This record gives sequence, C-alpha cells and structure tokens, in this order.
Amino acid sequence: MNNINFDPIELTQALVRCQSVTPADNGALDIVENHLTHLGFLCTRLPFSEINYDDIDNLFSSIGSTGKNLAFAGHTDVVPPGNESSWKYPPFSATIDGDKLYGRGSEDMKSNIACFISATNDFINKHGRDFNGQISFIITGDEEKKAVNGTIKMMEWAKKNNITFNHCIVGEPTSNKQMGDKIKIGRRGSISFFLTVKGVQGHTASSHRAENPAHHLITMLQKIISTPLDSGNEYFLPSSIQIPTFDISNPAVNVIPETARATINIRFNDQHTSESLIKWMQKHIDEIFKPLENASCTFTCDETGESFLTKPGELTTLMSKSISEVTGQNIEPELATDGGTSDARFIKDYCEVAELGIRNQTLHQVDEFVYLSDIEELKKIYFRIIENYFEKN
Ligand SMILES: [Zn+2]
Repeated sequence: MNNINFDPIELTQALVRCQSVTPADNGALDIVENHLTHLGFLCTRLPFSEINYDDIDNLFSSIGSTGKNLAFAGHTDVVPPGNESSWKYPPFSATIDGDKLYGRGSEDMKSNIACFISATNDFINKHGRDFNGQISFIITGDEEKKAVNGTIKMMEWAKKNNITFNHCIVGEPTSNKQMGDKIKIGRRGSISFFLTVKGVQGHTASSHRAENPAHHLITMLQKIISTPLDSGNEYFLPSSIQIPTFDISNPAVNVIPETARATINIRFNDQHTSESLIKWMQKHIDEIFKPLENASCTFTCDETGESFLTKPGELTTLMSKSISEVTGQNIEPELATDGGTSDARFIKDYCEVAELGIRNQTLHQVDEFVYLSDIEELKKIYFRIIENYFEKN
C-alpha cells in the first residue's frame, strides 16, 4: 500500500487528481479503500449495473462489530469541468495557491471525504480500534448524474446483509459564511409540468369561429400563480411555483393560434408529494377546461425528486454541540432544507441523517476551490463529532 497520507489537505489533493467525472473513477475509490484498510476497516466493493445506465463501482467500509453504528456517506464522482482553458489551473491538478486549493470536486465533495477519513484516523490513533462502536463509510461513484447505481442500491445491499446504521452524516458542502453554521436536515422536491392547450385556429377578425388557447392558458396560469400552495412551516420555506416557459410560436398577428404551451416548475416542501401535485394540476385543468367545448389541456410531467425531512434529533443536537466546541462560537447552526436534492434522500428511511460539510461557494463552477483553513477546521469538527458520538472525551 503506497501513498498513505492522512493529512486532510494532501488527501483532498490526491482525490482531486483522480479524474472521476461520472461514470469514471480513475482510482478515487482505491485511495479511500487503501486509507481505510490501513486503519483496519473491512472494505467491500459494490459494483452495480442497470440496463441503459453506466456500470458504477461503489465502496462500503466498516470497522467494529458492537455498539452504535455511525455512518459517513459521500460521493467520489464529480461533474465535468467544462471548458478547461477557462480554469486558472488545470481542473484536476489540485493546485494550491495561497490559502486556496483549486480543482473540480475540491468542494463537492472530495475535501469532505478526506476530512472524515483524516478525523477517523485521529480518532483511532487516540482511542484504538476497539472503541465499542462502529463506523461505516458509504462511498458512491454515482451521485452527480442519475444516481441509480449508487447510494440507493448500497442501502438496499446493507439491509439485505443485516447491516444497520444508527445515524448518518452526509458530507455535502453545507456551511455558509462560517464553517459549521449550516446543517441540512432535508431538501425540497421538484416537479415540472409541460402543458399543451389546444383550441381552434382562425382569423383574428372572425374570433367567433375560433377558440384562442392562449386566453384559456393565461386564465389558468393566473389562477395558479395567484394562489400560494402553502405558507411554509417550521423547517421549510413556502413551496414555489415558477413558469419558466410560455410558448405560442405564432408568427402572424392576424391568426388565432391552434396551440399554446407552458411549463410550470414547482419546488415543494414536505406538505406535498409529486402525486398530490399531479392531482392539483388536474383539478386546475378541469376547472377551466371541462366547461369548454372547443379547447382542451393535456400535460406530461417530470418528477425529479420528492421532498424529505429528518426531524432534528439526537444527531443534530450532537453535531451542533461539537461544532460550537471546535469553533468556540455559541451560535446554533441553521437547520436548513434549501438547495438541490442529495443522496440523503436515499438514507432517510434507514436512519436519522443530516448533512454537514465545507462552505458552499463554488461547487460545479469554473475555478472550484476550498480554503485550506476550512479543510483543517472541518476535520476538527468531524473528529469532535466522532468523539462525542462514542462518548470518548
Ligand atoms: Zn455533492
């Protein structure tokens, strides 16, 4: 086993240097596996396949056989760098310049994986391998694209093998202005509706022989956007309805068009599901179009994720306490549910899960970077969480 180095900055660099744009791995999982094996973890590779999708490799690692099981979940895959010449440094060079480390995946989320491995190393060095508890790593290579061969299947595999987790920390970049000021305990869901209204084409001067679909679509959309879905709750902002497209594509001012189209995108909280929103959409359509003889509305939809929430509990309390112990600040971290979806959605049905990681600043952007001092601080926070979790102070 070569190149074992638990320094969180050097380990982040080693991971960033693997060009692991989904579905490629290029050695990223090997680095994680080699380090964890060195610490006495048992490692199992879990390659999964699915028709019409890329085969993807994953890694499950664990140490200990009794006591509470604390899991860390993360992904080694990254999004493409885009135009490499736009980058200040080559995106997979992991260049350090001043107080920053640049590279695709440095923030999302290789530094977080490096920090948790490094914190685990410190913990085992201090307290030994026999700490009367279990630590597990759920590391996938399939998060950034369709995520069909990743965490969702790893959790099913664990269940089949009678592996249970008490709590799980997902290492997504969640911190905002300061390290540890934000923990995510859920995410909003997203659904898009693609509406087509069909009327009767005609001359604008003879509107009695035509039926303008645009007018009916506008009436319905006006009703939809003027009636809020909800007013939010303790953990979620109000659900948001947006109309990103409205298309008639009619080039002639004297023609009443035959069809009109629009898209509605909804970011919804835990008071709704895709299913309930499909019914809500149909109800609006029926109200406007059922009484009409010459106009009708049809739709298709794309459900990209349900909303979810893990109610704050033992884990978030312990995380908050550990963060303030390390940062010396007495500010409670915000328990948030904003942003896009994450793999926590596949874990929430198995155990209490929360997301905590480095500051969210440049993920998926050109010149993605992390501050070196943030890496050091995150490692300390993770270490403190592990110590507090297993009551080793
Ligand atoms: Zn991520």
